[in-house]
Parts: sequence; C-alpha cells; structure tokens
Amino acid sequence: MSTSGYKRILLKLSGEVLMGDQSFGIDTDTVARVAEEVKAAKDTGLELCLVIGGGNIFRGMAGAAKGMDRAQADYMGMLATVMNALAMQSALEQLGVPTRVQSAIQMDSVCEPVIRRRAERHLAKGRVVIFAAGVGAPYFTTDSGAALRAAEMRCDALFKGTSVDGVYNADPKKDTDAKRFETVSFDRVLQDNLKVMDASAVALCRDNDIPIVVFSIREQGNLAMVLAGDGVSTVVSNQA
Ligand code: UDP
Repeated sequence: MSTSGYKRILLKLSGEVLMGDQSFGIDTDTVARVAEEVKAAKDTGLELCLVIGGGNIFRGMAGAAKGMDRAQADYMGMLATVMNALAMQSALEQLGVPTRVQSAIQMDSVCEPVIRRRAERHLAKGRVVIFAAGVGAPYFTTDSGAALRAAEMRCDALFKGTSVDGVYNADPKKDTDAKRFETVSFDRVLQDNLKVMDASAVALCRDNDIPIVVFSIREQGNLAMVLAGDGVSTVVSNQA
C-alpha cells in the first residue's frame, strides 16, 4: 500500500497534458514522460485506473460553437479520448507496464468494451486499466467519466492531474492574490463554482464520498510526491 493509505486510485489527466509544448495533438516525448510518472505511481503498489481527456485533439463544445451538431461533435471528442488512451497504452507498455484499454464506445478490434468485472480482474493481475470514451454519451465530459469509473471501480480517491497545482479561490493566472486551498469541501466547490471539475463530476464524487486530489502533472515526479502525502495539491472532500 502507498504511504497515502490509498490502495486503488483513479488518475484523470486532461488531454492537454499530452500536447507538451505543441498547441495541438499528441507529443510522443511528453506521453513517454507522463507514462514514467504513471509507472512510478504504479510501482508504489497502487492499483491504478486511468482516464485521459481528449481536449488536445477535439472538444465537442468547440465544434458546436462552429455550427456542428453538438452530439455529433461530442462523439468526435470521445473518439479523441480513445486515441489518447492508445498512445498512453503504447507508452506504458514500452516501459513494461501491462495495460488494458476499455472503451465506453465499443470498438472490438481496437480495445475492450467497459466490463467492470473484467477491469477488476485486470487490476488484480497488476495491469493498469485505461477507461476511454468517457461515459459513452454526448453532453458529458471525461471528468464525469472519471468520477463514474472511480465510483464503479470503488477507487479510494480520484487524482486529477492538470496544469494548475490545486484549487484556488480565484483564477491564479488573472489574480495575483488568489489563494490555493489545502483542503476544501465539495459543497463549497459547488456553491462557489470553483474550478475543479464539472459540477456533475463533483456531485458524483460527493455523493459517493470519493475525495478529489487536484495537483499539477507538469512538474516531474510530482504525482509520486502527492501520492506519498508530500507535494502541492488541494484535497476536495466531505470532511474539509
Ligand atoms: N465527451 C463526451 N462524453 C463523455 C466524454 C467526453 O461527449 O462522456 C466529449 C466531449 O465533446 C469533450 C471531448 O469528448 O469535449 C473531450 O473530452 P474532455 O473535454 O473531457 O477532455 P479534457 O478537457 O479532459 O482534455
């Protein structure tokens, strides 16, 4: 068991994490670096579920803003998450980490469908399970997908790796006085509309008592530090 006391976690990474310094798409060097972070987390003895967004390739809202049918655009976004999942699977396997991808949109020749009991078996065998295509329905995001899989797989916590090192009371990029919370309650996040995850994802975690740990994945080694209880992060929970 890791020093944080968690046995099984879900790690959610936004698609943008895979772009590196590019403005679009998948930067293979960056994917390899992130895969090393994931491997280090796995090597602490954790059971690891992974959800990766698709924002580095396509977001349904952006397509809809340009006149596309929203549901159609969202399906394209979901397909983007499958591409990211396959890129991460490849990078993890190059590091010797056994991995399975399960997609909420069935694609038999590419990856497995989401089957909870099968996912359990993979985790028991020490494999990382990457859940792709979010919840498999339009008008949702991969944040909701991450919260859903975290609940379904009974994860002890949902770790959200982004480009910001936690949850602030204002946008730190715009307000120099913005303060980072060490801990904050789900209710406060929802009431004050703090930028953590979508409200539906936050509510699902609140109702199932799954803490969300928000941290920066940009600094090398940070995930392992946060997992060890060090490092900079904000913990969102019912206990705060
Ligand atoms: N998406 C969806 N349903 C889901 C998950 C994702 O429709 O359950 C679509 C949606 O268009 C979203 C896109 O996939 O914009 C990419 O996911 P997301 O925006 O969550 O990626 P991230 O911001 O985490 O990179």
